[in-house]
Amino acid sequence: MKRAFDVTGGTTLRCKGWRQEGLLRLLENVLAVGEDPASLVVYAALGKAARDWPSHDAIVQALKTMGEDETLLVQSGKPIGVLKTHARAPLVIMANCNIVGQWAKAENFYAWEQQNLICWGGLTAGDWQYIGSQGVIQGTYEIFSRIAERHFDGDLRGRFILTAGLGGMGGAQPLAGRMAHAAILAVDVSQDSIAKRLKIGFLERQARDLDEALALIQDAQQRRVPLSVGLLGNAADVFPEILARGIVPDVVTDQTAAHDLVYGYVPSGYTLEQVKAMRQTDIPALMDASRTSIVRHVQAMLGFKDRGAVVFDNGNLIRTHARDGGVERAFEIPIFTEAFLRPLFCRAIGPFRWIALSNDAADIGRIDDYLLQRFADNRIVTNWIRLAREHVPFEGLPARIAWLGHGERTELALAVNAMVRDGRLKGPVAFTRDHLDAGGMAHPNIMTERMRDGSDAIADWPLLNAMLSCSSMADLVAIHSGGGGYSGYMTSAGVTVVADGTPEADERLRLSITNDTASGVLRYADAGYEEALDEVRKKSIHRVDTAEFAAAAACNPQEFP
Ligand code: NAD
Repeated sequence: MKRAFDVTGGTTLRCKGWRQEGLLRLLENVLAVGEDPASLVVYAALGKAARDWPSHDAIVQALKTMGEDETLLVQSGKPIGVLKTHARAPLVIMANCNIVGQWAKAENFYAWEQQNLICWGGLTAGDWQYIGSQGVIQGTYEIFSRIAERHFDGDLRGRFILTAGLGGMGGAQPLAGRMAHAAILAVDVSQDSIAKRLKIGFLERQARDLDEALALIQDAQQRRVPLSVGLLGNAADVFPEILARGIVPDVVTDQTAAHDLVYGYVPSGYTLEQVKAMRQTDIPALMDASRTSIVRHVQAMLGFKDRGAVVFDNGNLIRTHARDGGVERAFEIPIFTEAFLRPLFCRAIGPFRWIALSNDAADIGRIDDYLLQRFADNRIVTNWIRLAREHVPFEGLPARIAWLGHGERTELALAVNAMVRDGRLKGPVAFTRDHLDAGGMAHPNIMTERMRDGSDAIADWPLLNAMLSCSSMADLVAIHSGGGGYSGYMTSAGVTVVADGTPEADERLRLSITNDTASGVLRYADAGYEEALDEVRKKSIHRVDTAEFAAAAACNPQEFP
């Protein structure tokens, strides 16, 4: 059957209510904006919206027929039952790719995936929360902005950013770099990836070769104008070549799908066709070849760092594989979360999103107007909304992201629900967030690296977060762990709530969004971050402080066995 990957808009329901219809539209949306929808792949090489097409079709059928008082259970992208619960329970709960600790290895994942026992939902792919590149554009833009503030007097004009990877997520880098006024060169081994970013306007130019790419960048630097340039090549070759020429970019990072040595990273010296063949015939050799290339790639990044560039890991496990390949200094490259964003996460300020289920861009425009007025003194929000309006094309259902914190998200969601209720918006709006958010993730080489109390790898936090979202009446709640190259590296939680204008939605939004951010603040407060403890005090979050009891025990030891 030939499938069309379109979004549905308007106000005609195919389901028994807007909550179910909203989730169905989000499922359609992640495929419409995904990298390879025919294979159900949304991004990051393997991140899928559903296990297989029969699973997808059965999910659609369930959403269309289930009542408000039922809950659909999804196990790694496959629906396994619709059970009677109650109207305040989530409509969909998911557990995606969670593997018992000692078994959580990439090789096991690939074997089980081939037997169709499991699939990886990425972070926001498997729970239908991905909104296209916009989410990652703002994250990348905020990183570049923090680097500008810290290292370049607040301005990246005339600065050279070198990176690689123009896929589903990495493709946001050239646009984010240009928005931050830099000259950015992005290397990718796939002409298709480069062509796609050129087509959607995220990338301005493609250079014929490295000489032309560097000339274009140098010219933009001299004229202090923003520019994004793509170059076809392998980063494991191009980065060392730039280093060998004695050229030192101001900022260096990488967003190839390096996390996955089989389906993500393409080793130097191999064509894409050869790699595809090896995936079927010789996975161990392919993993070795990828690791060898990553070693060269990261050694070049370290070389740039030694010569003064600001180098950071953009969340793709490239340092981990390099260290496994023998690069002892790999972790001298900092992770972006710890280096630039942790103070924000301590206050649960992170990537909150909303999606116009009407498919009417004017709904997002009205919410933008509300934000600009209500958060006029919040520079991160107003700066971003203005930039996004100018530079970020909508993909699929119109959507917006903004880094809002505890209390702010709830306030926005309730205001939007009122706008749906009184007809100022054409249709309901779904609220969700990235898993890379304060309460949602344990990922010791990305989100929770070098936590102050050493709790990096403890996955209780996202699990608590997901259970809390279920208790707080969210519409969809998901627990994801890593698959492919991320097997054994992460656990995260996702949450979605549909603002359909009803008073019941007010309650769902108030509880689930407030508790989601509260759990994030509590996680960082527990780890001892002063910013989080301050937020607990300022926002009156009820934190149970066992330190008080420890102090009492120290004073009266005879009363405490
Ligand atoms: P993707 O699979 O859609 O794209 C990866 C791109 O890398 C492809 O275009 C591929 O051709 C290119 N590539 C692979 N090997 C290469 C090499 N050696 N040299 C040059 N190009 C090469 O993946 P994606 O969705 O763009 O994600 C990229 C990475 O970023 C993943 O590891 C993902 O997990 C990570 N990620 C980080 C964040 C974050 O918050 N910073 C967010 C999302 C994803």
